[in-house]
Amino acid sequence: MARPTKALISSEAILHNYNLANKLTTNSKNIVIVKANAYGHDIKIVSKILAFKAPVFAVSSLEEAMIIRGIGIDTPILLLEGCFSQSELITASNYNIWVMLCSNHQVEWIIKTKLPRPIKVCLKVDTGMHRLGFLAYEVVNIIKKLKNTKNIQRGIIVASHFSSSDICNSETAKEQLKTFMNLKNELNQKHSDYFNIEYSLANSSAILNIKESHYEWNRIGYMLYGNSPLVSNKYSSRLKPVMTLQSAIISTREIDVGESVGYNSKWTAKRKTRIATVAIGYGDGYPRSAKSGTPTLVKGKIASIIGAVSMDMITIDVTDIKEAKINDVVTLWGSNLSVNTIARYSNTIGYDLLTRVSSRVPRFIKE
Ligand SMILES: *Cc1c(COP(=O)(O)O)cnc(C)c1O
Repeated sequence: MARPTKALISSEAILHNYNLANKLTTNSKNIVIVKANAYGHDIKIVSKILAFKAPVFAVSSLEEAMIIRGIGIDTPILLLEGCFSQSELITASNYNIWVMLCSNHQVEWIIKTKLPRPIKVCLKVDTGMHRLGFLAYEVVNIIKKLKNTKNIQRGIIVASHFSSSDICNSETAKEQLKTFMNLKNELNQKHSDYFNIEYSLANSSAILNIKESHYEWNRIGYMLYGNSPLVSNKYSSRLKPVMTLQSAIISTREIDVGESVGYNSKWTAKRKTRIATVAIGYGDGYPRSAKSGTPTLVKGKIASIIGAVSMDMITIDVTDIKEAKINDVVTLWGSNLSVNTIARYSNTIGYDLLTRVSSRVPRFIKE
């Protein structure tokens, strides 16, 4: 039998979360974000499940986009950071891949390059994240520059990204929304003749939390995978976690009071303790920073991690789960144990944990 470590991917949960997002955003279309191997869920699995539903996919590199094209899916794909070189533009244009324009050099490329066919572009606006994009006052000039090139399709999308939409009533998010709305009004009043401009602002937390930010296009990532970026939100409980990360017990033993477990004896028994060793570790992407006390599930009951997470194994306390034995399934996160909980115990966020599940862990579709 193979090593029992695996990630089960629920197609039913993906469809449920996608439909929920659509219900919350009846006037928008939702771009499905599958960057970073679909947040660790397997880009091929996820894009196949949504192939005839998603209007557009989005990724961070042409290589990721070509994985989707490689399995025969011809849905448009947006490159969230645009092209990294001029030659990538030609491939993008050949494969119906949309590009974000974030910097002047990318604008120059699109004007100068001889493209096989016009390409769809999004124009990134920096409304406060200060990572990528043009400032609002620069946008009109960029649009004027683009006006004369035959390289771009009509229907340019003006996009921006929130820095703190995961915080309820965030002042920063309100400021960004205001900047974006003002830009939209200005473009509508003075420059609507240039292109049929559409707008894109909301990510998952804004889909759940900031209705005024739902323009023609939203970008749905984390919530599609069934977890809420918000600590509390009325829709969060309706999301279904897509990934179940699981392994199994491969050894059990009893240790006495005062004995330690694992590297550097980080944990010492205060009672006679029954320990189960589980075949998963940081080599699989399980966080090494997970503290003693981090929950796992065995037979529906909580068994806490004790001692340090090793590369290939963890040790858990099954003293109170008498029936636990070798080969029993251990769930690291999934429907009854949120990845957000594990993230709290590991001092990080669920996004980080999901994207870190390593290529050594096989993904299987659970219908
Ligand atoms: C990753 C990403 C998103 C998705 O964010 P979630 O919080 O996962 O929904 C949206 N927009 C951009 C530009 C991104 O890079």
